[in-house]
Amino acid sequence: MSSGSLVLFPQEAALEAPTFEALAEVLRAAGVLGSPIAGGEGEFLAGEGFLQQITFMGCSPFIALEPPADGGAFCHLRLHGPYAEPRLLWGRNTRPPKCPACGRRIADWQQHLGADAVHCAACGAESRLADCAWRGHAGFGRCFVEIRNIFPGEAVPVDRLLARLQGLGAGPWGWFYLS
Ligand SMILES: [Zn+2]
Repeated sequence: MSSGSLVLFPQEAALEAPTFEALAEVLRAAGVLGSPIAGGEGEFLAGEGFLQQITFMGCSPFIALEPPADGGAFCHLRLHGPYAEPRLLWGRNTRPPKCPACGRRIADWQQHLGADAVHCAACGAESRLADCAWRGHAGFGRCFVEIRNIFPGEAVPVDRLLARLQGLGAGPWGWFYLS
């Protein structure tokens, strides 16, 4: 069972994403990324400095960073991309975006989702996904650092980590939650 994910991503989707190796190196140097998980595509254990880079809210919750013996959920990372073209990463919690042209919610957006645009049935406008406000419930980018088994709002990256990621040259990084 997964409670959700915290996802970090470069917000300037027009810019080329860093290579997988460059991204992994920065995350490893920051202590966020540990060993690759055998058999997992782009999956890694959390590194030794993980809890210094990701701040958990509330009263020191118990965070499982190692695979539990019973095979239960634990916090780990999955690197997505880089992709040649930006894409939308969304989940069950993603709310309908507002049409940038008419301001109405595109309730059936999932049925009208193209490669990089969404069609508004109300006014007929084709809007770029990059122009839609996803309000922290989805992200449009060329690479993503997914930190799994985090409840939406439960944890945030520290500013220093975001600054290190920005040093990769793909613009400023932000984050959102999936569940
Ligand atoms: Zn519209």
